[in-house]
Amino acid sequence: MTIKETVKKHTNELKFVTHIPAKEIEILMMFLLEKNTIWLHINYNEEFKKEKELEKLVKKRATNYPIEYLTNKASFYGEIFIVKEGVLIPRPETELLIDNALEILKDKKETVNILEIGTGSGIISVMLALLIKDVKIIAVDINEKALELAKQNAIKHNVEDKIEFRLSNLYENVSETNIDLTISNPPYIANDYKLPLNVAYEPSNALFGGSVGDELLKDIIKHTNERNIEYLLCEMGYDQKNPLTKYLEQFNTKSFTFYQDYEKFDRGFTIQFNK
Ligand code: GLN
Repeated sequence: MTIKETVKKHTNELKFVTHIPAKEIEILMMFLLEKNTIWLHINYNEEFKKEKELEKLVKKRATNYPIEYLTNKASFYGEIFIVKEGVLIPRPETELLIDNALEILKDKKETVNILEIGTGSGIISVMLALLIKDVKIIAVDINEKALELAKQNAIKHNVEDKIEFRLSNLYENVSETNIDLTISNPPYIANDYKLPLNVAYEPSNALFGGSVGDELLKDIIKHTNERNIEYLLCEMGYDQKNPLTKYLEQFNTKSFTFYQDYEKFDRGFTIQFNK
Protein backbone atom coordinates (compact mmCIF):
# COMPACT_ATOMS: atom_id res chain seq x y z
CA MET A 1 0.00 0.00 0.00
CA THR A 2 1.32 3.48 -0.80
CA ILE A 3 1.82 6.26 1.73
CA LYS A 4 -1.15 8.06 0.24
CA GLU A 5 -3.42 5.02 0.51
CA THR A 6 -2.26 4.36 4.06
CA VAL A 7 -3.19 7.89 5.14
CA LYS A 8 -6.65 7.42 3.63
CA LYS A 9 -7.06 4.02 5.24
CA HIS A 10 -6.44 5.22 8.81
CA THR A 11 -7.92 8.73 8.79
CA ASN A 12 -11.37 7.62 9.94
CA GLU A 13 -9.95 5.96 13.04
CA LEU A 14 -8.84 9.30 14.41
CA LYS A 15 -11.74 11.51 13.47
CA PHE A 16 -13.28 11.35 16.94
CA VAL A 17 -10.12 12.37 18.78
CA THR A 18 -8.77 15.19 16.61
CA HIS A 19 -10.00 17.70 14.03
CA ILE A 20 -6.90 17.00 11.89
CA PRO A 21 -7.01 13.18 11.57
CA ALA A 22 -5.19 12.86 8.22
CA LYS A 23 -2.49 15.26 9.33
CA GLU A 24 -1.98 13.23 12.52
CA ILE A 25 -1.63 9.98 10.53
CA GLU A 26 1.07 11.73 8.53
CA ILE A 27 2.79 12.92 11.72
CA LEU A 28 2.86 9.33 13.01
CA MET A 29 4.21 8.09 9.67
CA MET A 30 6.93 10.74 9.61
CA PHE A 31 7.84 9.74 13.16
CA LEU A 32 8.17 6.06 12.17
CA LEU A 33 10.10 6.84 8.99
CA GLU A 34 12.20 9.59 10.58
CA LYS A 35 11.34 11.86 7.65
CA ASN A 36 9.83 15.32 7.26
CA THR A 37 6.69 16.55 5.46
CA ILE A 38 8.50 17.42 2.25
CA TRP A 39 9.96 13.92 1.98
CA LEU A 40 6.60 12.35 2.75
CA HIS A 41 4.81 14.27 0.02
CA ILE A 42 7.48 13.71 -2.59
CA ASN A 43 7.16 9.99 -1.86
CA TYR A 44 3.37 9.94 -1.50
CA ASN A 45 2.97 7.21 -4.14
CA GLU A 46 5.75 5.00 -2.81
CA GLU A 47 5.09 1.95 -0.70
CA PHE A 48 4.73 2.42 3.07
CA LYS A 49 6.69 -0.30 4.83
CA LYS A 50 5.82 0.20 8.47
CA GLU A 51 2.12 -0.58 8.48
CA LYS A 52 2.27 -2.84 11.58
CA GLU A 53 3.99 -0.19 13.68
CA LEU A 54 1.64 2.49 12.42
CA GLU A 55 -1.41 0.42 13.29
CA LYS A 56 -0.23 0.19 16.88
CA LEU A 57 0.27 3.94 17.18
CA VAL A 58 -3.05 4.79 15.55
CA LYS A 59 -4.86 2.42 17.88
CA LYS A 60 -3.31 4.08 20.91
CA ARG A 61 -3.99 7.59 19.56
CA ALA A 62 -7.63 6.57 18.99
CA THR A 63 -8.00 6.18 22.78
CA ASN A 64 -7.23 9.92 23.12
CA TYR A 65 -3.64 9.21 24.12
CA PRO A 66 -1.77 12.45 23.26
CA ILE A 67 0.18 12.40 20.00
CA GLU A 68 3.05 14.21 21.73
CA TYR A 69 3.57 11.20 24.00
CA LEU A 70 3.65 8.91 20.96
CA THR A 71 6.22 10.93 19.07
CA ASN A 72 8.02 12.26 22.19
CA LYS A 73 8.04 15.72 20.66
CA ALA A 74 6.24 19.02 21.11
CA SER A 75 6.91 22.49 19.82
CA PHE A 76 6.99 25.52 22.06
CA TYR A 77 7.94 29.09 21.16
CA GLY A 78 9.20 27.87 17.79
CA GLU A 79 11.52 25.21 19.22
CA ILE A 80 11.17 21.44 19.46
CA PHE A 81 11.23 19.87 22.91
CA ILE A 82 11.41 16.27 24.05
CA VAL A 83 8.29 15.20 25.96
CA LYS A 84 7.57 12.02 27.89
CA GLU A 85 4.63 10.46 29.63
CA GLY A 86 4.63 11.52 33.27
CA VAL A 87 5.45 15.13 32.44
CA LEU A 88 3.04 17.86 31.28
CA ILE A 89 2.85 18.55 27.54
CA PRO A 90 3.69 22.19 26.66
CA ARG A 91 0.70 24.42 25.85
CA PRO A 92 0.82 27.33 23.41
CA GLU A 93 -0.63 29.82 25.92
CA THR A 94 2.40 29.31 28.17
CA GLU A 95 4.38 31.19 25.50
CA LEU A 96 2.77 34.35 26.86
CA LEU A 97 4.70 33.92 30.11
CA ILE A 98 7.92 34.03 28.10
CA ASP A 99 6.85 37.25 26.34
CA ASN A 100 5.98 38.87 29.65
CA ALA A 101 9.31 37.93 31.21
CA LEU A 102 11.25 39.24 28.21
CA GLU A 103 9.38 42.53 28.36
CA ILE A 104 10.33 43.04 32.02
CA LEU A 105 13.93 41.98 31.61
CA LYS A 106 14.77 43.65 28.30
CA ASP A 107 16.57 46.66 29.84
CA LYS A 108 18.46 44.81 32.58
CA LYS A 109 22.18 45.23 32.21
CA GLU A 110 23.61 42.86 34.85
CA THR A 111 23.09 39.11 35.17
CA VAL A 112 19.46 38.27 35.74
CA ASN A 113 18.65 35.61 38.35
CA ILE A 114 15.47 33.69 37.68
CA LEU A 115 13.66 30.98 39.62
CA GLU A 116 11.22 28.73 37.82
CA ILE A 117 8.82 26.76 40.02
CA GLY A 118 7.48 23.55 38.48
CA THR A 119 9.69 23.37 35.43
CA GLY A 120 8.16 20.15 34.04
CA SER A 121 9.73 19.51 30.63
CA GLY A 122 11.85 22.63 31.15
CA ILE A 123 10.29 24.65 28.32
CA ILE A 124 10.13 27.96 30.21
CA SER A 125 13.64 27.85 31.63
CA VAL A 126 15.18 26.60 28.40
CA MET A 127 13.46 29.32 26.34
CA LEU A 128 14.52 32.06 28.77
CA ALA A 129 18.07 30.72 28.71
CA LEU A 130 18.01 30.79 24.90
CA LEU A 131 16.57 34.31 24.69
CA ILE A 132 18.38 36.13 27.51
CA LYS A 133 22.13 36.47 27.14
CA ASP A 134 23.22 37.04 30.71
CA VAL A 135 21.00 34.87 32.87
CA LYS A 136 21.25 32.31 35.69
CA ILE A 137 18.21 30.13 36.25
CA ILE A 138 17.25 27.78 39.04
CA ALA A 139 14.52 25.43 37.83
CA VAL A 140 12.76 23.35 40.46
CA ASP A 141 10.19 20.58 40.39
CA ILE A 142 8.87 17.92 42.78
CA ASN A 143 9.01 15.33 40.01
CA GLU A 144 12.41 13.71 39.44
CA LYS A 145 11.32 12.39 36.06
CA ALA A 146 10.47 15.94 35.00
CA LEU A 147 13.85 17.24 36.16
CA GLU A 148 15.62 14.55 34.17
CA LEU A 149 13.63 15.41 31.05
CA ALA A 150 14.15 19.15 31.57
CA LYS A 151 17.89 18.54 31.77
CA GLN A 152 17.74 16.62 28.47
CA ASN A 153 15.96 19.57 26.88
CA ALA A 154 18.54 22.00 28.23
CA ILE A 155 21.31 19.86 26.74
CA LYS A 156 19.44 19.55 23.43
CA HIS A 157 19.29 23.36 23.24
CA ASN A 158 22.81 23.90 24.55
CA VAL A 159 21.84 25.95 27.59
CA GLU A 160 22.70 23.48 30.36
CA ASP A 161 25.36 25.89 31.73
CA LYS A 162 22.74 28.53 32.42
CA ILE A 163 20.24 26.38 34.31
CA GLU A 164 20.52 24.50 37.57
CA PHE A 165 17.82 21.87 37.98
CA ARG A 166 16.85 21.11 41.54
CA LEU A 167 14.39 18.88 43.36
CA SER A 168 12.18 21.15 45.47
CA ASN A 169 8.57 21.55 46.49
CA LEU A 170 7.94 25.20 45.63
CA TYR A 171 10.51 27.28 47.59
CA GLU A 172 11.45 24.50 50.04
CA ASN A 173 15.01 23.89 48.80
CA VAL A 174 15.64 27.40 47.53
CA SER A 175 17.67 29.57 49.90
CA GLU A 176 19.20 31.98 47.37
CA THR A 177 18.60 35.65 48.20
CA ASN A 178 19.53 37.17 44.84
CA ILE A 179 16.50 36.17 42.77
CA ASP A 180 15.09 38.96 40.59
CA LEU A 181 12.10 37.15 39.17
CA THR A 182 10.08 34.02 39.81
CA ILE A 183 8.14 32.45 36.98
CA SER A 184 5.71 29.54 37.18
CA ASN A 185 3.01 27.63 35.38
CA PRO A 186 1.93 25.71 38.48
CA PRO A 187 -0.84 23.17 38.82
CA TYR A 188 -3.99 25.31 39.13
CA ILE A 189 -6.96 23.04 38.39
CA ALA A 190 -9.41 22.15 41.19
CA ASN A 191 -8.91 18.57 42.43
CA ASP A 192 -12.45 17.45 41.62
CA TYR A 193 -12.53 18.91 38.09
CA LYS A 194 -13.31 16.25 35.51
CA LEU A 195 -10.52 16.44 32.95
CA PRO A 196 -11.16 16.00 29.21
CA LEU A 197 -10.07 12.52 28.05
CA ASN A 198 -6.85 13.62 26.39
CA VAL A 199 -5.66 15.62 29.41
CA ALA A 200 -6.37 12.69 31.74
CA TYR A 201 -3.22 10.98 30.37
CA GLU A 202 -1.09 13.76 31.81
CA PRO A 203 0.28 13.63 35.37
CA SER A 204 -2.15 14.82 38.02
CA ASN A 205 0.65 16.37 40.10
CA ALA A 206 1.25 18.80 37.23
CA LEU A 207 -2.43 19.75 36.92
CA PHE A 208 -4.27 19.81 40.25
CA GLY A 209 -3.61 22.69 42.61
CA GLY A 210 -5.87 21.82 45.53
CA SER A 211 -9.55 21.57 46.38
CA VAL A 212 -10.19 25.11 45.11
CA GLY A 213 -7.39 25.08 42.54
CA ASP A 214 -5.57 28.31 43.36
CA GLU A 215 -3.90 27.11 46.57
CA LEU A 216 -0.43 26.67 45.07
CA LEU A 217 -0.67 30.03 43.29
CA LYS A 218 -1.44 31.71 46.61
CA ASP A 219 1.41 29.88 48.28
CA ILE A 220 3.80 31.03 45.55
CA ILE A 221 2.59 34.64 45.85
CA LYS A 222 3.05 34.60 49.63
CA HIS A 223 6.54 33.15 49.56
CA THR A 224 7.73 35.32 46.68
CA ASN A 225 6.70 38.36 48.70
CA GLU A 226 8.35 37.05 51.90
CA ARG A 227 11.61 36.53 50.07
CA ASN A 228 11.71 40.04 48.72
CA ILE A 229 11.72 38.96 45.08
CA GLU A 230 10.65 41.84 42.88
CA TYR A 231 8.70 40.10 40.11
CA LEU A 232 6.34 37.15 39.98
CA LEU A 233 4.86 35.87 36.71
CA CYS A 234 2.36 33.02 36.77
CA GLU A 235 -0.14 31.24 34.59
CA MET A 236 -3.54 30.59 36.21
CA GLY A 237 -7.06 29.28 35.53
CA TYR A 238 -9.63 31.30 33.57
CA ASP A 239 -11.77 31.84 36.72
CA GLN A 240 -9.06 32.80 39.19
CA LYS A 241 -8.69 36.52 38.48
CA ASN A 242 -11.20 37.67 41.11
CA PRO A 243 -10.11 35.48 44.02
CA LEU A 244 -6.45 36.31 43.33
CA THR A 245 -7.15 40.04 43.07
CA LYS A 246 -8.75 39.82 46.51
CA TYR A 247 -5.88 37.78 47.88
CA LEU A 248 -3.37 40.35 46.60
CA GLU A 249 -4.91 43.17 48.65
CA GLN A 250 -2.90 42.15 51.74
CA PHE A 251 0.45 42.55 49.96
CA ASN A 252 2.49 45.64 49.27
CA THR A 253 2.52 45.51 45.49
CA LYS A 254 3.79 48.17 43.13
CA SER A 255 1.57 46.80 40.39
CA PHE A 256 -0.24 43.69 39.27
CA THR A 257 -1.70 43.02 35.86
CA PHE A 258 -3.64 40.09 34.48
CA TYR A 259 -3.39 38.88 30.89
CA GLN A 260 -5.61 36.81 28.64
CA ASP A 261 -4.70 33.85 26.42
CA TYR A 262 -5.23 33.52 22.65
CA GLU A 263 -8.86 32.53 23.26
CA LYS A 264 -9.49 35.59 25.44
CA PHE A 265 -9.68 33.71 28.73
CA ASP A 266 -7.97 35.21 31.78
CA ARG A 267 -4.82 33.14 31.93
CA GLY A 268 -2.17 34.69 34.17
CA PHE A 269 -0.60 37.65 35.92
CA THR A 270 2.52 39.70 36.50
CA ILE A 271 3.14 41.13 39.97
CA GLN A 272 5.76 43.69 40.87
CA PHE A 273 6.27 43.85 44.64
CA ASN A 274 7.50 46.93 46.43
CA LYS A 275 10.93 46.01 47.68
N1 GLN B 1 6.62 24.50 33.28
C1 GLN B 1 6.04 23.41 32.55
C2 GLN B 1 5.05 23.95 31.53
O1 GLN B 1 4.69 25.09 31.61
C3 GLN B 1 5.37 22.42 33.47
C4 GLN B 1 4.19 22.98 34.20
C5 GLN B 1 3.50 21.98 35.08
O2 GLN B 1 3.88 20.80 35.11
N2 GLN B 1 2.50 22.41 35.78
O3 GLN B 1 4.62 23.24 30.66
